[in-house]
Amino acid sequence: MLTVKEMNDLEGKRVIVRVDFNVPLKEGAIRDDNRIVQALPTIKDLIGKGARVILLSHLGKVQHKLAEENPAKLEKQIKEGSLAPVAARLSELLNKPVVFIEETRGDVLIESVNDLQNGEVLLLQNTRYEDGEEKNDVALSNFWASLGDAFVMDAFGSAHRAHASTYGIPEILKAEGKPVAVGYLVEKEVANLNRCVDVKDGDRPYIAILGGLKVSGKIKVIESLLNKCDKILIGGAMAFTFLKALGHGTGNSPVEDDQLAYAKNCYVKANGRIILPVDTVVSDAFDPAIRTTVQTVSTGNVAECFQGLDIGPKTRELFAMEIARAKMVFWNGPMGVFEQEGFQKGTIAICEAIAKNEKAFTVCGGGDSAAAAKQFGYMDDFSHVSTGGGAALEMIENDGRLPGIDVVS
Ligand code: ADP
Ligand code: MG
Repeated sequence: MLTVKEMNDLEGKRVIVRVDFNVPLKEGAIRDDNRIVQALPTIKDLIGKGARVILLSHLGKVQHKLAEENPAKLEKQIKEGSLAPVAARLSELLNKPVVFIEETRGDVLIESVNDLQNGEVLLLQNTRYEDGEEKNDVALSNFWASLGDAFVMDAFGSAHRAHASTYGIPEILKAEGKPVAVGYLVEKEVANLNRCVDVKDGDRPYIAILGGLKVSGKIKVIESLLNKCDKILIGGAMAFTFLKALGHGTGNSPVEDDQLAYAKNCYVKANGRIILPVDTVVSDAFDPAIRTTVQTVSTGNVAECFQGLDIGPKTRELFAMEIARAKMVFWNGPMGVFEQEGFQKGTIAICEAIAKNEKAFTVCGGGDSAAAAKQFGYMDDFSHVSTGGGAALEMIENDGRLPGIDVVS
């Protein structure tokens, strides 16, 4: 695998860099610029080598299939997906101008690329404005590839997608004999996540902590983790599917009924290595505006009209004890509805236990989990916080392989 660090003779060369600028926005303002910051080493390296840097990224969802049934919604997605605020922030961080092109193809883009001087940076508009992006459309890939003399993959958060900008371009350039490489961020992510995939004896006990909302989206990773980890601690809404599968009452808690058989099968196969909550903080309503009661009950005692919104104090202690003994920890998915003040303790307890265990190698992989770690001030306590939620999970699921990285390897 060639890295950007090792790429030479780039003076005057047009280098296409797929970055992950899919940042959270609120009313057009960037809420967290971490993904832009993480892309800087690669961009600066290329500027330093005198390359002409062409940046590509997607931002948010753009569902072109809505064009007929709900054009207003598509219009809104396009408006909210503009990379203009990202271009402005990038320019601040680099302390130099960034040429922002409102188009994703056409004469203006081609002329602007031709006008680029050595060491200058250009960002084109959201790749998903193109219907062909997610379809890995050949014509689109060919056009984008024609803009570059080399390609660098640094969008770890998009590396699990074989799209035109992540897969089509490098495939074409590679076939043309042009250099393709990974950037600093992808190199770092791969090194850290591979340690969670190829487990060394010295990294045991290896504990995975899973939470969040959906079981179905994380199914394959549970099976894969069972082959790698010593124990899996399950909290969050995901725990209720397991608890119900084992015959416990879960009241009104979110349960994926079509996953009950799978959950039970996993639990049995794990042979005591899946640890479930022993108590739960429950409420009569998810919406704080109509909530009347919050209480802690032991597992199995969730009354009909109540739902579990966080792990309870005994579970926090149990999970913390397991984490204290671990040599390696992989965490994905909050333990409760951490966005609401009354249901943050479970997620904080995980962060706290990870922070206290200084000898362990600890990885946070998951968009909301990383946001929680940041919100509660624990970012620096992890050995590695991944910029890719889905990509980190898929990398573990697929034993270290991702299409967007394989294609440049
Ligand atoms: P990540 O992005 O880290 O992979 P997910 O997207 O799977 O995590 O899940 C995050 C969401 O799960 C959060 O919005 C959180 O509020 C929700 N969640 C966690 N526990 C519960 C629960 N018991 N009931 C409802 N939602 C929950
Ligand atoms: Mg999420």
